[in-house]
Amino acid sequence: MSVLHDLGVAELGRLLAGGGASSAEITKHLLARIAAHQHLGAFLCVDEGLAMRAAHAADARRAHGEASALLGVPIAHKDIFVTRDLPTSAGSRMLASYRSPFDATVVARLGADGAGMVTLGKLNCDEFAMGSSNENSAFGPVHNPWDTTRVPGGSSGGSAAAVAARLLPAATGTDTGGSIRQPACFSGVTGIKPTYGTCSRWGMVAFASSLDQAGPIARSAEDCALLLGAMSGFDERDSTSAPREAQDFHAQMLTARSGASVSRPLAGLRIGLPREFFPKALAGDVENAVRAALAELEKLGATLLEVSLPRTELAIPVYYIIAPAEASSNLSRFDGVRYGRRASRYADLLDMYMKSRSEGFGLEVKRRIMIGTYVLSHGYYDAYYLQAQKLRRMIAEDFQRCFGSCDVIAGPVAPTVAWRIGEQGDDPVKAYLADVFTLPASLAGLPGMSVPAGFGDRGMPVGLQLIGNYWQESVLLHAAHALQQATDWHRRAPAGV
Ligand code: GLN
Repeated sequence: MSVLHDLGVAELGRLLAGGGASSAEITKHLLARIAAHQHLGAFLCVDEGLAMRAAHAADARRAHGEASALLGVPIAHKDIFVTRDLPTSAGSRMLASYRSPFDATVVARLGADGAGMVTLGKLNCDEFAMGSSNENSAFGPVHNPWDTTRVPGGSSGGSAAAVAARLLPAATGTDTGGSIRQPACFSGVTGIKPTYGTCSRWGMVAFASSLDQAGPIARSAEDCALLLGAMSGFDERDSTSAPREAQDFHAQMLTARSGASVSRPLAGLRIGLPREFFPKALAGDVENAVRAALAELEKLGATLLEVSLPRTELAIPVYYIIAPAEASSNLSRFDGVRYGRRASRYADLLDMYMKSRSEGFGLEVKRRIMIGTYVLSHGYYDAYYLQAQKLRRMIAEDFQRCFGSCDVIAGPVAPTVAWRIGEQGDDPVKAYLADVFTLPASLAGLPGMSVPAGFGDRGMPVGLQLIGNYWQESVLLHAAHALQQATDWHRRAPAGV
């Protein structure tokens, strides 16, 4: 039998169901691993007592005959989800000592009042989820377990690094412009951002509300399907929550396609490759790995065809207008009055606002507040914000045109493998440009997934991105699962962890 930390969510569920281990044993084992891997910087807080109590409670529920797949399986949450029993910082000094009076809906649905997963702690992330390397966290960087001198991706960097390092089988993340897919890619794990509206945003510290969406990061598509099922479903406390029941993505994922056979499970699946996703600037090692993964999908019965998303590059300026605009509005709530940091010395109310915000926010957050305030201001609103909104609509229409001829769109997640910590210096635009392949699906509100697709230069992981039409998560999960049945990239572990 594999050691406990090598087992995924589904495998641990089966082990628990068969009585092969208790949740308390699994939890204890993983807590010891987390303690031994603090140098990765993945966790912002761990509460051993809380975790062990939850594990014993889950074991008691199983002893009383409950048998759901997730009951007693450990998880941890990106520190952007508010939690009643653990601090929530959103990676910011602004919330360094903040305690929420309630749990985010996603946290509640996965935890003791829902699926019965055991929360081990909270995971590091870029401040207010702004970034793609985890270098923007006020609490230090996260190290990529495949090469600790490199970034794990971001903003859900702690989530991806912890799952890759086998500190736990799965974690939650959020994705506004790629923050589940890109860290999953850089860290060699699997992640899915569902259609906007699938998971409730209630209790997710807001970055850009028209884009923010929660999703799971795990080692396999099967595990992601199990988690996403438990996370999804209508929530009246989020006005953009889709009026849909929670989906059994796992059952949907396992349902065979019509016309499929054992050796060709993806028969009939049309995969569109946007030519703009394979530009000259794409690193050769990434392109080779992505093409090899696509060849595997072809062997499994899928057909590949070329499509076009002509406004791919425009997604960068469009996103970096809309997301900061929404952020500047959302972050106005941090004023030192209601909650969060308040400067200890100030002359008057205005001075208190200014000092609290100056001390509380980091550089990237301040930059975005300034850009966002600028593009929303009188005289510039029409020139920037409104134009960006129009282009956003056109980007979404381009996808619909593609989905006329294909079922899934595929390409790389990021143009390179993970970069070295500090390598980008203080040029934020470099990081913005590297978001080019994840931003379009975010702007369109479409589901997107990152699936391990082998390795590039210096053995760093490469991810294949799959994008589906609205509510077609199960098509993505089905294709990714078929790929993972035929290949073992997702099973490889970084050396030395
Ligand atoms: N890298 C993008 C940004 O910095 C996306 C972040 C995210 O998805 N939260 O905004």
